[in-house]
Amino acid sequence: MKVLVVGNGGREHAIAWSLLRSPQVEQVFCTPGNGGTATLSRCQNLPYPVDDFERIGQAVREQGIDLVVVGPEVPLAMGITDYLQAQGVMVFGPTKAGAQIEASKAWAKALMQEAGIPTAKAAVFTQESAAKDYVTAQGAPIVVKADGLAAGKGVIVAETVAQAHQALEAIFAGQFGDAGKFVVIEECLIGQEASVLALTDGITIRPLLPAQDHKRIGEGDTGENTGGMGVYAPAPLVTPELMARIEREVLQPAIATLRSRGIDYRGVLYAGLMIAPTGEFKVLEFNCRFGDPETQAILPLLETPLEELLVACCQQKLGELPLIAWKPGAAACVVAAAKGYPGAYEKGQVIIGIESAEASGGCVFHAGTKLKQGAGSREQGAGGQGDKGDKGEKRAEGAEGKRNLQSPHPTPYTPHPTTIVTDGGRVLGVTGVGENFERAIALAYDAIAQIHFDGIYYRRDIGHRIQ
Ligand code: ATP
Repeated sequence: MKVLVVGNGGREHAIAWSLLRSPQVEQVFCTPGNGGTATLSRCQNLPYPVDDFERIGQAVREQGIDLVVVGPEVPLAMGITDYLQAQGVMVFGPTKAGAQIEASKAWAKALMQEAGIPTAKAAVFTQESAAKDYVTAQGAPIVVKADGLAAGKGVIVAETVAQAHQALEAIFAGQFGDAGKFVVIEECLIGQEASVLALTDGITIRPLLPAQDHKRIGEGDTGENTGGMGVYAPAPLVTPELMARIEREVLQPAIATLRSRGIDYRGVLYAGLMIAPTGEFKVLEFNCRFGDPETQAILPLLETPLEELLVACCQQKLGELPLIAWKPGAAACVVAAAKGYPGAYEKGQVIIGIESAEASGGCVFHAGTKLKQGAGSREQGAGGQGDKGDKGEKRAEGAEGKRNLQSPHPTPYTPHPTTIVTDGGRVLGVTGVGENFERAIALAYDAIAQIHFDGIYYRRDIGHRIQ
C-alpha cells in the first residue's frame, strides 16, 4: 500500500514513521514534509502545499496512492477530504462539515450543548459592546476565544476584566480576520488539561492512549502558550474509569450528534479536557485531527498497525477490528524549539547530533526542519548510491541515506548524508519509550542532550506532573 501524509510537522513525521512499521505499507509520501520525512527510509517528500488540492489530487493519481492521511486542521476545514473523495480517493480525516468541530468554536459549543457534553458555560457574540457588557457582568478571570482557526493564538485567558476588554477590542478590530467575526466568551476552568484522541469511522469509536501536553514555554508551566513543548502518554491523570466516562459522556454523544446532523465523521476526534481537582471534567475544545505533539508520544506505543486502523475508519469497519493493542510502558516526548519561540525566531541553524540521539535510543521526530539545499554526502564523505552527482534534496533522498528508526523492513543504519537545518519554531520532538515514565523521560533527555543547534531550547521538566 502507498500512503500520502499531508502536512509538514512532527505529527506528520510520526504518522509516516508509524505507517512504515506496518508490513502492508510499501511506501509513504509526505507533502510538503520536512527534513525528517525526507530522510526516512521508504518515505519521499512531494513539494505541494497542504492547500493545493488540485496538485495533491494529481500526485495521488500519478503515484498510485491508496490512502491519504491529512495531518493539519486547515486543509480539513478547507474541504480536502470532500475534494479527494469526489475523485474516489480514500481519505482519513473528516469532511469540511465535520471539521467545523474545530474550525468554529461557536459551532462546537452548540454541538456540545445539544449533545449534553460537559463543557464550560459560554456565550457567543458578534458585537463588541454586548461582549464587553457580558464580561463586565461575569467578572474575571474569563476566557475570550476567536471563533475560527487562529493557529493557537485566538484564545485569551484574561485575569482581569480590562484584559478581556482589550482582547475583545483587538479581535473585533480584525486581529484574526474572519476567525474573529464571532467571539466565544467562556467561564475560566481550573485543573489539569489532558488530551483524549479517538479514532472513529463515524459509528464506532476507539480511543487512543490519553496524553498530557505542556503548553507553556517555561519550566513549571510558566510564560507564553505554545503549540506544545512536550507530552507523555498514557497520562496517569486519566484513569481507566475516567477514560470510560469520557468515552461515554463525550466521544460517543459527539459522534452521535454529528451523525444526527448528517455528518459522517471519519478520522480523529480529539477532545481537549480540563480535569478539576475533584476529578470532574469539562471539554475545552474539540480538534478534528491528530494532536501535535501528542501523536509523537502516542504512536510509538501503538502495537496494532496504524494503516489497518486508518483504513478501517475510512471503510467504516472499525467495529470489525479487535481493540487497539498497545505496547506496555510509557512514552515521553521533549520538544526542542528555536531561540525566541513562540515569538520571532531565526531559521537556518545547522542541526547536529540527530544520529547520536537515535543511536542512544530516542525517536527523533522532525517538526520545523529541512534539508539544506546543496549540502550533502560529499561534504560528509558518505558517498554511496545517493551521490551520483544530483544535488541537494534529491541526493539526500537516495535510499542509502535514509534512516530506519526501527522499521520492520531492515535497512542498515547509516548516518545522515546531508545537512539538516532549522525551519520553524518547534524544531524537533525527541521521544523516549520505556517500561515506565522514569525510563521514558530519561531516554528522551539523554537523546535530546546529543542534539545541538544555535539557540536550542527545551524544557527540562517534561513529566513534572506525574506522581
Ligand atoms: P486556536 O483556535 O487559536 O487555534 P486552540 O484551539 O488551541 O486555539 P483552545 O484549545 O480552546 O484553543 O484553548 C487554548 C488553551 O487555552 C487551552 O489549552 C487552555 O490552556 C486554555 N483555555 C481554553 N479554554 C479555557 C477555559 N474555559 N478555561 C481555562 N483555560 C482555557
